[in-house]
Order: sequence, then C-alpha cells, then structure tokens
Amino acid sequence: MMLRVINALLISLCLPLATLAAEFDYQLNPVKVVKDTYIFEGKTEDFTFGNGGNIVNTGFIVTSNGVVVIDTGPSLRYGEQMRKAISNVTKKPILRVYLTHHHPDHFLGNQAFKGIPIYALGETITSINNEGAGFTDNLYLMVGDWMRGTDSIAPTKTVEPGVVNLGGHKIEILGFSGHTVGDLAIFDHTTGALFSGDLIFHKRTLTTPHANISLWLETIAALKKKPFKVLIPGHGPKSLDKQAMDDVSDYLRWIDVTFKKASEDGLSMTELMAQPIPKQFSGNALLKEEFSRSVTHLYAKYEQAVFKRAN
Ligand SMILES: [Zn+2]
Repeated sequence: MMLRVINALLISLCLPLATLAAEFDYQLNPVKVVKDTYIFEGKTEDFTFGNGGNIVNTGFIVTSNGVVVIDTGPSLRYGEQMRKAISNVTKKPILRVYLTHHHPDHFLGNQAFKGIPIYALGETITSINNEGAGFTDNLYLMVGDWMRGTDSIAPTKTVEPGVVNLGGHKIEILGFSGHTVGDLAIFDHTTGALFSGDLIFHKRTLTTPHANISLWLETIAALKKKPFKVLIPGHGPKSLDKQAMDDVSDYLRWIDVTFKKASEDGLSMTELMAQPIPKQFSGNALLKEEFSRSVTHLYAKYEQAVFKRAN
C-alpha cells in the first residue's frame, strides 16, 4: 500500500505526463467476432503509462438471459469502462464473469463487477490470493494513475470444467495448465468461439513467468481438437485457423531445445540471451524482450537438470 501512496505522489509531481492521459480513457471498442460474441483487443506491447496496461484481450458473450464476461482487464478503471462499453451493446444484465488465469492484466478489473459471480479455477483463486497484491503494486509502478483505486479481488466462485447452458449458449469450460498452474479456456459450442486466455499469444511473443513448457504443449494439442470457428487469444489479433496454435507450440519447442542445449554446453544466462532467434518468430512483437525474460524465468531449471545428471 505504501508503494501506491509514494507512486501517487510521484505521479502528481509529474504533471505534464499525467495531463497527457488526463481522461484515463482506454477507449474500449467492442468488436463483434462471431454471433453474440465481442472482444476488446489490447495492444501487443509491454505495460506502460502510455497504454495504461491495456495490453490484453477481454470479451463477452450476449446470451438470451444476459452477458457472460471473459476476463476483466488490468485495472478498476478498465473494468468500469468495460461495463459501460458492454451496456452500449446490450442492456441485458451481466450473469457471470469467468477469469482465464491469475495474471494481473486479466483480473484486476474485478472490482467493477462487484456483486456478480466471478468464476475461476481453484488454482487461479489460490494464486490470486497469494500473488495478487504484489502484482497490483507492480502495476501501479508501471502504469501509474491508470491504476487508481485498484485492489486485487479474488474470484468468488470455483469453477469445475464441464458444460453449462446459459441463455441458449452451450458453453464448455476447459481446465488446463501450462501457461500458469490454472488456465481456463472457454469454448462456445453454439457459436464456435474459443477464448484461450494466455494459452495462445498471437503475433505477440508469449510470456513465461509461471510456465511449464511440457504441460503447455499438451494443452495446446488438446485445444487444437476443438472445432472452433474463431480463436480469441489472450494477446494479439483473433485467428480463424490453427496457425496461431502451431506458432505457440513451435516457439515453446524451440525454447525447450535451445535451453536444454545451452545448459549442456554450459552457457550462462547472458550468453543464452545473446543467442540468435530463428526468423520464423520475427513476426511476433517483443520477441527479444520476452525471450530474455524467459531465460530468467526458466533457464535455472535446465541448469539444475544438468547438474543432477552430472551427479
Ligand atoms: Zn498470462
């Protein structure tokens, strides 16, 4: 909390910067991707004051009984603006919210949905309880006043994977892991919309702070079996085919092979970070930045595996 007070003071001293985004308007524009289904597409950038943390895709499904929301965005302001944008599309009530996973850009808008059931996998709820406050402090430091009033609020309902029928939509809740310990995806059998959360990044390099590569690869193989018409990734543009899934799998496999070889060759983290990255991945935003971060997240485990074998 102290961090937030200090940060608020710092921001009030940086007046020209604060004036730039005086409105703190994310300009959320719902884009229809398939029948009854809308997304708010974020930028394929890092968190900055300029984007206010809007680097994420969220969405909603308008059923005959009401609205199902998928993820709530990076801040209270985002959640509030999301609700307003939804109300411009439909006056139906919001029935429930599903959170895909516990990363801050996906759930810190929860406060704006107070009183509405917020569903997540049990692993996600535990992780938000453990890490949510730290995530929130970090985002205050990175995006400043966009975060005003934001607190980490845990989901209120544990969801079990399975099919639910909501207002004429047959919605399948899928429980996975790999990007984090609890990754929820939503497949609407009625429309063919597949919300993958961060199991799929499209044209934006994936992030790995809580990743398990072998589980993630298994999960993508399972996701690929769903007969979807439109895939809404956690970050980047929608996709109408399985190419985005293959791209993520290819990159994960390349990381795995490259880190394994580097550890066997005794490379340091800095040496590994300097390795060339294949051209096939160059269409993904933030490639160099995220690759370096993945080295810091994952490489120690590969090094430990080599030490174990040596013993
Ligand atoms: Zn994530």
